[in-house]
Amino acid sequence: MTDSVVTRFAPSPTGFLHIGGARTALFNWLYAKKRGGKMLLRIEDTDRERSTEAAISAILDGLKWLELDWDDDVIYQYSRAARHREVAEQLLASGKAYRCFATGEELAAMREKARAEGRTRLYDGMWRERDPGEAPAGMKPTIRLKAPQTGETVIEDQVQGRVVWQNENLDDLVLLRGDGNPTYMLAVVVDDHDMGVTHVIRGDDHLINAARQKQIYDALGWDIPNMSHIPLIHGPDGSKLSKRHGALGVDAYRAMGYLPAALRNYLVRLGWSHGDQEIFSTQEMINAFDLPAIGRSAARFDFAKLENL
Ligand code: GLU
Repeated sequence: MTDSVVTRFAPSPTGFLHIGGARTALFNWLYAKKRGGKMLLRIEDTDRERSTEAAISAILDGLKWLELDWDDDVIYQYSRAARHREVAEQLLASGKAYRCFATGEELAAMREKARAEGRTRLYDGMWRERDPGEAPAGMKPTIRLKAPQTGETVIEDQVQGRVVWQNENLDDLVLLRGDGNPTYMLAVVVDDHDMGVTHVIRGDDHLINAARQKQIYDALGWDIPNMSHIPLIHGPDGSKLSKRHGALGVDAYRAMGYLPAALRNYLVRLGWSHGDQEIFSTQEMINAFDLPAIGRSAARFDFAKLENL
């Protein structure tokens, strides 16, 4: 079936399951259920220094407790590093990427210059057309995308609408680091493509990444999945949600004795227009949920209201 929906929840295992992450998982789960599709779980453990086993367990336990079951086996991103390297090599071979031997000092100078000139494109393209034979001996290059220099990159987002970036402001992205490890940007594109993901639903802090990822999709000749960037959760005072507003980990609510259905019910209503109804059964949530009904302004997490559930 080519038209079946595949969503994914793709947390980085660097800490507890945050209520913002739990809401993202819930939205992915609801959308998959509503459309008779699948929700996959991908643990983005490519950053070896920040990823921990304890965080992986906390995420898996938190999802199980919330009864947000995923389909198929959990995918561990790091185990796919060879595939990520293969795609970077493919881009090199097709001339859509190049080896960059810029040193740390050269990059720092470029950043400085760009800042002084008020440019957001930091990398000046010094290795775009240069022969790698000119590189200092023994130096390990990064692989960069040859990003378009002119024109626009456009994302048609189900929540944000049409979002347009001027290509002159977007950098030649690093795809592979000098040590051969893929960057987040490359890994996400390759994994979403290989997993057959049709709908990406995630926090709007990733909106700029969607533009960068679109450039990688275009270079590979792959279709970008349908995108929905949901507004982050803020505290009741409108500021970025932080510890001073209350507990942020799903495990804390579990320890306080909340029922999973109550937390799910509260989370689903954060940022999703649902009329006056306050309590939804799981089936009612699935029936009523839809992506365009997610608002564009930040949802406010009001702990006092959660108390009442
Ligand atoms: N791993 C990313 C995070 O935890 C999410 C990546 C994505 O959804 O594309 O913020």
